[in-house]
Amino acid sequence: MLRLLCVTAHPDDEAGAFGGTLLLYHERGVETSVVCLTAGTAARNRGTARSDAELAGLRRAEFAASCKLLNVDRSEVLDFPDSKLDRTNFYEAVEALTRRLRKIRPHVVLTFGMDGGLTGHVDHAMAGTFASVAFEWAGRPDRFPEQIEQGLEPYRAQKLYYGTADFLLQDRQPIAPPTVSARIEIGNDRFEKKVAAFQQHTTQAPLFERVRTNLGRRLGTVEMYHLVATRDPREAKFEIDLFEGVREE
Ligand SMILES: [Zn+2]
Repeated sequence: MLRLLCVTAHPDDEAGAFGGTLLLYHERGVETSVVCLTAGTAARNRGTARSDAELAGLRRAEFAASCKLLNVDRSEVLDFPDSKLDRTNFYEAVEALTRRLRKIRPHVVLTFGMDGGLTGHVDHAMAGTFASVAFEWAGRPDRFPEQIEQGLEPYRAQKLYYGTADFLLQDRQPIAPPTVSARIEIGNDRFEKKVAAFQQHTTQAPLFERVRTNLGRRLGTVEMYHLVATRDPREAKFEIDLFEGVREE
């Protein structure tokens, strides 16, 4: 079975940034996983939560509901600090993601680029940084050998992609997005389902209109990616399928 892992920073990223792609590949028989680094407790929109612990509980439940609508097979929220991923211990974050890569053994990995994705969020950039290093290190027996002593095997995923776009959002910090090297057509039904998944994040309801506008008017039914690295060396070429050239093994 082919497997896809998506590494995000906050509950709701899985829907807003990657939702259509997760739906599409699940339909094609790919096992899909999402690992989210934080519980999103730095959010301005806090629903009914009176404390960070309450907000973490609400957002974990919303994440689970969103992943269910997106037919995600495995989903997990880790405990790294929201809005502070740039001050998080690099080695610990990469260790956690390397462990997931060695356990889940995905063929394709999706995450954010150094720009922080469309919104330019610093946590997105850091999630992408940690995931990119983990993508490289998971296959090296000299990295985190204690995981291997515990029974995990080194694992080399075949492709790493960053989510990207061919436009910028207004009123944001300046970013330089990774080039678009793949366009995934998700279609109207999956677009609506992705919006519905985002709306499972009810603590973030004040964002719904803006997100729908940004997703709908600018992205429409396309999700764009940049192919960053491949296990088997190759020249760049434009793609419409993230599993193109991937071998089941
Ligand atoms: Zn986010």
